[in-house]
Amino acid sequence: MEDCIFCKVAHGAIPATLIYQDDFVVAFDDIAPQSPVHTLVIPREHYADLGDGVPAATLAAIFAAVPIVAETKGIAQSGYRVIVNNGRDANQTVGHLHIHVMGGRAMQHGMVTFVAE
Ligand code: 5GP
Ligand code: ZN
Repeated sequence: MEDCIFCKVAHGAIPATLIYQDDFVVAFDDIAPQSPVHTLVIPREHYADLGDGVPAATLAAIFAAVPIVAETKGIAQSGYRVIVNNGRDANQTVGHLHIHVMGGRAMQHGMVTFVAE
């Protein structure tokens, strides 16, 4: 899709530190990491989010890439958190489905911080 940052990354039009790629997905380091390891896994095809009719095979490929990324980044044993910010309330800022793989340091157990009502 034109004007989509992550489509451009997938097509090599925007440089990124690639960690893994196959026919379905590309994984690359986040430009503004929020943990020592912060890698994004995206489908090569453009899907806005999880509700955009993503084929099951593509979802499978995305999640199959996660442990490969974790191995490559050296966090497979220490553990990691996998996050999908999906839509407005979750603060999704890039409208191309992506999975955050985050680790490299021990985290608190809580997962969600809500905006005050
Ligand atoms: P979201 O907030 O949509 O879940 O996550 C979007 C992520 O994409 C953010 O963590 C942001 O730092 C990252 N990001 C935005 N633009 C770029 C870019 O051009 N290159 C890379 N590698 N990451 C980006
Ligand atoms: Zn896209």
